[in-house]
Amino acid sequence: MAILECTGARFAYDGVSVLEDVNFRLEQGDYLCVVGENGSGKSTLVKGLLGLKQPDAGRIVYGEGLKSTQIGYLPQQTGIQRDFPASVYEVVLSGCLNSLGRRLRYGPAERALAERNLERMGIEELRNKSYQALSGGQQQRVLLARALCATKKLLLLDEPVTGLDPIATGEMYNLIKLVNLCDNITVVMVSHDIHEAVRYATHILHLGHRQLFFGTAAEYRESSLARRFLGGNRL
Ligand code: ADP
Repeated sequence: MAILECTGARFAYDGVSVLEDVNFRLEQGDYLCVVGENGSGKSTLVKGLLGLKQPDAGRIVYGEGLKSTQIGYLPQQTGIQRDFPASVYEVVLSGCLNSLGRRLRYGPAERALAERNLERMGIEELRNKSYQALSGGQQQRVLLARALCATKKLLLLDEPVTGLDPIATGEMYNLIKLVNLCDNITVVMVSHDIHEAVRYATHILHLGHRQLFFGTAAEYRESSLARRFLGGNRL
């Protein structure tokens, strides 16, 4: 059974259609990169996948027992989020919020999960530091650890390397791929960086107000669309 299936999805704002005819299917462990120019509908699709915006037509179905509240989400960074006044540990632990149910406090299971994800991201030494005081690359690791606390199955990452220097960018991509391969977590990543997208992803979804391409990264590499998008440069 697919972990995520999008069938004939169309999204509109105030009756004006902005994204149409989206059809793709992901199996557990796939790594999908969503690419497209500004305004092509990437963020709208993200809202749809998170269940924050209903499609006007078609449907989005989760499989493997996944619920939209069990998606690990790393949002696009804003200045306000960068100034969030909390410790690294508190930010990571807050990824467990949806699993609390009716409980008001985090228990040993949530604390252990936060510790494990701090270690997984190699940031356990930063645990007592203020989130605001970290570098951009460190902040993104913290947010990835937080997203991992929220999910065992699906990570949704919106432009996770924006603003990072090349070294921090490479480290972030490697961490994401490691989580994908070692824990078999499905990854859906919105990206501007098409070169890196085809390097790490198993599948590519290219949007332009509708679905222009969905297939494997190898198929995409050979497509005329990929070449056009890159201005004639081969991937
Ligand atoms: P991307 O993430 O690829 O830049 P978006 O999904 O943000 O694209 O936008 C797709 C289209 O939907 C754009 O034309 C944008 O202007 C429009 N749009 C996005 N959000 C809203 C909104 N809240 N209300 C009306 N139009 C919107």
